[in-house]
Amino acid sequence: MTPGTYVRLRRAKAGWKRSELAVIIAATPGDRAAIEEELHAIEADHIIENRRRVAQIADQIDLDFNIYLTLVGFAQDPESELPCPRICTGCGCTWDRPCASKDGLCGWRDNETDRCTACPPALD
Ligand SMILES: [Zn+2]
Ligand SMILES: [Zn+2]
Repeated sequence: MTPGTYVRLRRAKAGWKRSELAVIIAATPGDRAAIEEELHAIEADHIIENRRRVAQIADQIDLDFNIYLTLVGFAQDPESELPCPRICTGCGCTWDRPCASKDGLCGWRDNETDRCTACPPALD
C-alpha cells in the first residue's frame, strides 16, 4: 500500500472530507484552499513524504503515524525489508487499530486478501 492510499483510507474511514480536514488544520481561513490541495497531493502520492502535515492529520483522526512512515520507507525503497503490518485495503485498519462496531472489533476476512470483516469483500 502507498502512503497516500493509507492516508486516504484512514480519512475516509473517519468520515472526513479533505475540505473539512483543511478547515481544522489551517492556521487561518486563507490557508484552507492550499492545504486542501496539499492533502489531495499527499493522497494521490504526488507528495510521497510530508511528515509535518500527516502528523497534523494523525492528531485529528485514527491514523498511525508510524505506519505512514513505514509506507514512506517502502515507497522510497521498494527493496526495503522493513516489516510492515497487514493493512486492510478497504479502510486502512491494522491489528492495533481495528474497526469497532456493535458486533465488536473487526478481524481478517480470510488469509488471501487483506480485507477486514468491517469492509465489504474486495471486488477483484
Ligand atoms: Zn477494513
Ligand atoms: Zn477493520
